[in-house]
Amino acid sequence: MSRDLFQPEHDIFRQTIREFVENELAPHADEWEEAGEVPREIFERMGALGYLGMRYPEEYGGGDDPLAEMVLHEEIVRCRSAGVGADIGAHIAIAMPHILHYGTEEQKKKYLIPGLQGKWISCLAITEPDTGSDVASIKTRAERDGDNWVINGSKTFITNGARCDFMVLAAKTNPEKKYSGISMFVVDTDNPGFEVTRKLDKLGWRASSTGELAFTDMVVPGNALLGEENRGFYQIMGMFAWERLTLSVGAVSGAQGCLDETLNYAKQRHAFGKPIANFQVIAHYFADMATKIEAGRQLTYHALEKYMAGEDPIREVSMAKLFCGRMACEVVDTCLQIYGGYGFMEEYDVARAYRDMRLLPIGGGTDEIMREIISRMMGIT
Ligand SMILES: Cc1cc2nc3c(=O)[nH]c(=O)nc-3n(C[C@H](O)[C@H](O)[C@H](O)COP(=O)(O)OP(=O)(O)OC[C@H]3O[C@@H](n4cnc5c(N)ncnc54)[C@H](O)[C@@H]3O)c2cc1C
Repeated sequence: MSRDLFQPEHDIFRQTIREFVENELAPHADEWEEAGEVPREIFERMGALGYLGMRYPEEYGGGDDPLAEMVLHEEIVRCRSAGVGADIGAHIAIAMPHILHYGTEEQKKKYLIPGLQGKWISCLAITEPDTGSDVASIKTRAERDGDNWVINGSKTFITNGARCDFMVLAAKTNPEKKYSGISMFVVDTDNPGFEVTRKLDKLGWRASSTGELAFTDMVVPGNALLGEENRGFYQIMGMFAWERLTLSVGAVSGAQGCLDETLNYAKQRHAFGKPIANFQVIAHYFADMATKIEAGRQLTYHALEKYMAGEDPIREVSMAKLFCGRMACEVVDTCLQIYGGYGFMEEYDVARAYRDMRLLPIGGGTDEIMREIISRMMGIT
């Protein structure tokens, strides 16, 4: 833990949230993996405890402490299912920040207050069936009709999409333009033109609800525009740093948790008359994993420190996201190997972690896009 970054109050909060995760989330992880979503009551419970609003201003019911939210993202991974953190993260760290940064006072009051209480659940809907990384090529169209907007199109892979109360939605308001033709909207999902076309089945993150959505002549009021018309692309890019930092801290703490459990196993499992942890090759696997995790942690905290100092550390955030996502996949793969045949069985959490971690090099911007950003910043491409 970075001493300069986190303060003693964060250590106290870490302990509190760790107990909450152990007592109220982890025991239900299997049930929620089966159900394919985290129940609404958990959002409400976390809202009542103040856990959903930690980075948000007090006037909307928040705690005004972004680092406390980072502690939550680190600790929630310990609940034995990354899908749980995904649903909560999509709501507090991915969708609602758009409203916090770009919303009008009216939009903030309407959506943030029930959102932070966990009474309403949100999603961020950008990705479409035909385009993900290439955000500027989205096709969902929003056209003015008097005082209203009429929206047509579709979205896919949307976390919380299949059961959210409001969504932050990207649509083309000027199809002639790529980057400067996108606007953001905040839309209630009880709108008649909104439909969940599919709840998607996935390799991992199985406790997270992922939806495919369609909008057919969906009429939304003029005041649903979020931020400036045709500035949506830049608003989306501006919000990526926080999302990528939350994914990076989650990758580090997920990898650390997997290492810790695997080490316990390796000390107890015997082969050839001794614990497998005592074979030098296995001990060295642990040394390698601990080194990679520490490198990821320091890189992430370095990027977070810059972010907290008010900088826009795109390079460091992209490096942290790239390094930590891959590192977590490598760590969990090595851990699974150390479990041997039991690693392939569902009775140990490592099999689920193996599936869950695989999302990290894809979600929130792929590894290839992170490399593209970093190499551009190096002046190469
Ligand atoms: C479980 C899950 C949850 C998600 N949640 C959300 C959500 O809540 N909201 C949301 O809007 N989206 C969400 N996504 C979508 C996610 O952000 C996209 O999957 C991701 O951005 C990649 O887009 P894509 O899948 O369309 O892949 P594509 O963009 O089609 O990319 C396919 C491959 O081509 C590579 N590629 C693309 N462009 C380049 C390039 N310029 N240079 C080199 N390689 C390139 C990619 O890296 C990738 O390997 C989620 C996805 C998953 C799987």
